[in-house]
Amino acid sequence: MKAKLQVTSEPVTQVPFDDSPTAWMGQGNCRNYPPATFFPSDGVGVDRARAICKGCPVTTQCLEYALEERIEHGVWGGCSERERRRILKRRRGLLA
Ligand code: SF4
Repeated sequence: MKAKLQVTSEPVTQVPFDDSPTAWMGQGNCRNYPPATFFPSDGVGVDRARAICKGCPVTTQCLEYALEERIEHGVWGGCSERERRRILKRRRGLLA
């Protein structure tokens, strides 16, 4: 006996479309961790956050966002505050 194929006009699941400039945040690995994980107070915490960022699919977007917005605190895109300052300094040097 053949099963009847039921066709509907509505998709079975609907994922809300987000075209905002920060839509990538919804794909970050950090969404599964408490925000405090990415605002560590010591080097061990920074390493822990970096390890989570390492396999994140939106690392590049995250780092560029933090650099463009001049976010001073926390680990973004797998980079600590100090690392982001170095990147910005290097970029300024390239533009000079
Ligand atoms: S790179 Fe790190 S902080 Fe950025 S979205 Fe991914 S997991 Fe979150």
